[in-house]
Amino acid sequence: MLQVHQIPCLSDNYGYLIHDDDSGMTATIDTPEVAPINEALKQKGWRLTHILNTHHHFDHAGGNLELKEQWDCTIIGSGPDADRIPGIDTKVDDGDEFLFGDHSVKVFDVSGHTIGHIAFHFADSDILFSGDALFSLGCGRLFEGTPAQMWQSLSKLIKLPDSTIVYCAHEYTQANAAFALSVEPENEALQARSKEIDELRASGKPTVPSLLGLEKATNPFLRPTSPDLQRNLGLQGADLTEVFAETRRRKDNF
Ligand SMILES: [Zn+2]
Repeated sequence: MLQVHQIPCLSDNYGYLIHDDDSGMTATIDTPEVAPINEALKQKGWRLTHILNTHHHFDHAGGNLELKEQWDCTIIGSGPDADRIPGIDTKVDDGDEFLFGDHSVKVFDVSGHTIGHIAFHFADSDILFSGDALFSLGCGRLFEGTPAQMWQSLSKLIKLPDSTIVYCAHEYTQANAAFALSVEPENEALQARSKEIDELRASGKPTVPSLLGLEKATNPFLRPTSPDLQRNLGLQGADLTEVFAETRRRKDNF
């Protein structure tokens, strides 16, 4: 059985430990901040065996070398982005699968936020670590890729089951909800979710993880097929990439 432990880091990042009881393996998904990750390992009594990096940004790979030095752990990251992943040992790319204990982990290239950004899918546990590609009610800013690339990336994730638990890397959901409502105010599932998010944040609770099925119903970046969204953007019947691109453009200026 796999256990996930969520760790608030920096101002709004989430770090994650994933632990396999059977093999005793423990991975941290990204290394936003060393001290809280070490504190969580100590509290759980787990030994860090792996670092799984989603992308090279400092709030994701900045703790790689210090943790590797301390734990002698194996760093798995994007082959195409290997030059920017400190201490990388094992290079993976889109479609690759590797074993974490007895659990298969599938790699998706989800370039867009950065080129070479990857996501990790633990299929037997319905767990997806999406980094800064897919957020709760949002998607990553396009620092390196094109809208077409990001839409292609998100299209891969949309194909995963609705029951997939999405662990993203930032607590951005409340601001994302405000934007989502601005482009699809008619969406009742989104209205309800926005209220829940406000309540969670008011009591200091995380809004992450979320379920992919809920994301498909409420996240505008996964909904370019929505007639309401298309109409509100003035893009009825337009190409889905164009609808996605306009949604991203509006979020950048929101
Ligand atoms: Zn990033």
